[in-house]
Amino acid sequence: MTARIIDGAACGREIRAQVAAEAAQLAAEGTVPGLAVILVGSDPASEVYVASKTRACHEAGMHDRLIKFPDTVSQDELFGAIDGLNADPTIHGVLVQLPLPPHIHPKAVLERVHPSKDVDGFHPLNVGRAFVGDPRGFVPATPAGIMELLRHERIETHGKHAVIVGRSLIVSKPLASLLMAPGPNATVTLTHRHTVDLASHTKMADILVVAVGKPGLITAEMVKPGVAVFDVGTTRVPDASHAKGYVIRGDVDFEGVSQVASHITPVPGGVGPMTIAMLLSNTLEAACRFHHAKTRGERRRGGF
Ligand code: NAP
Repeated sequence: MTARIIDGAACGREIRAQVAAEAAQLAAEGTVPGLAVILVGSDPASEVYVASKTRACHEAGMHDRLIKFPDTVSQDELFGAIDGLNADPTIHGVLVQLPLPPHIHPKAVLERVHPSKDVDGFHPLNVGRAFVGDPRGFVPATPAGIMELLRHERIETHGKHAVIVGRSLIVSKPLASLLMAPGPNATVTLTHRHTVDLASHTKMADILVVAVGKPGLITAEMVKPGVAVFDVGTTRVPDASHAKGYVIRGDVDFEGVSQVASHITPVPGGVGPMTIAMLLSNTLEAACRFHHAKTRGERRRGGF
């Protein structure tokens, strides 16, 4: 078997075009959606992610604001900036790029973002809302993007066994709650560093999601024929033959696993572009809620 390669870039473009059309309509009604991104320090990977988020925002006709701090910034200064954005009616989504320097407590910072502007879905209130299936929350962009790819590719989840490698709050735990919810109805196994005999779990998967950050962790021998594989991992691997001096690698041995799987996401071009598309979708949702609360009461967009 040779797997169908899931084109996350194309699917992401479709969603971004739809978001841009809806953002234009909302702008015509008086609210231009706005996203603010706070970047602390000069981690090269974070700078690339932030640049692609603000560029995508701009391309979707949204207002974008980047606030940069040196890595010596105090937690109070950071709180001050977040408080200002929470109170700013032209900003509907606020995100703080992770990781943060060691003297700053990420939990405290993420809790400072007002839940109604927490388009990353990392505030405990939104984490809880996602867990109980309350649509007033925001679902983190990467798991939302994977759910969207499953729908787009018409991959059956009902009664299927989904195995997730990794237990992060950003990807794996929210994805587990989305997959096991009524509707998708998957049976979910979550694995981590202490899981004994990882392969015995991954071999059971009808749907395998890998979010670890270890290139080549999952090999062809670790999956069963016909599995649908979603590779979230993005690791910079030094490569002198490449102009940038590195290449981005996923957690899955793409060459080997694509000979066994039914579907597979490439890295890059799979899950990554969906993350940005869903972040824009969440920002639009936040702006819609703001607009309709201001004009004629709460109204939700359909969809995500
Ligand atoms: P994370 O916080 O970096 O944690 C990694 C997880 O992998 C942990 O739960 C860890 O287990 C688990 N793990 C480590 N070694 C393992 C092993 N040998 N077997 C099984 N599990 C193992 O996770 P993350 O934030 O979800 O990021 C994971 C990767 O996805 C990174 O490469 C990141 O850059 C990438 N990422 C990509 C996107 C995108 O849009 N494409 C978005 C987010 C993240 P313990 O909990 O036991 O330590």
